[in-house]
Amino acid sequence: MTEWLEERQRVLQAAQQLLVKRLTVGSSGNVSQRVGDELLAITPNRRYTEDLTPTDIVVATFEGDVVAGEGIPSSELMMHVGVYQARPDVLAVIHAHPRYVSAAAVTGRAIPPILEDQMIYLGGQIEVAGHAMSGSDELAAAAVAALGDRHACLLANHGAMAVGRDLRAALYACEYLEKLCQAFLWASLLGPLNVMPPDVVETERAFFKMMRM
Ligand SMILES: [Zn+2]
Repeated sequence: MTEWLEERQRVLQAAQQLLVKRLTVGSSGNVSQRVGDELLAITPNRRYTEDLTPTDIVVATFEGDVVAGEGIPSSELMMHVGVYQARPDVLAVIHAHPRYVSAAAVTGRAIPPILEDQMIYLGGQIEVAGHAMSGSDELAAAAVAALGDRHACLLANHGAMAVGRDLRAALYACEYLEKLCQAFLWASLLGPLNVMPPDVVETERAFFKMMRM
């Protein structure tokens, strides 16, 4: 069970970083990366990250069949697969329950363009996927739709999904999103938000798309 050990090691390290950076709690959240064209390496279901070794990271097909690893794949497997199928540019996916993300997800409100790094690293307005049961095909479809061509979205009353061209980029996207949600919530307490003007948004969206190529 030592196939794809390098990829599985990287997935484990990213999951450990989620805890170190206080972006998730306990066994919640899950991390994956593509393995070739038709497989993904993903954290196992309901295991504490601190107990995991690289061989506990499951390698599965997009249909959910396990080809390496002792455990069963994360219950959010189909959300990860949905992103890989919709977004050829994405090589890593993180689902987490960060603190400020959780608060923003409870409001059910999209986060308009309010910060420079939101535009450049996340790709613009952050949409919210409507609530659906964890692990359901409905949640997977809603998350993929809310993500669109951006690098992050919120999941109503639940958490967030962040993606990237590798695990480090996905981890930073998750961190940028958490910082954005903090700014969104604190600024909302002070009064109306100063949303960036449409011409600036258009220019920065074009820059985001160019940098993603
Ligand atoms: Zn979750």
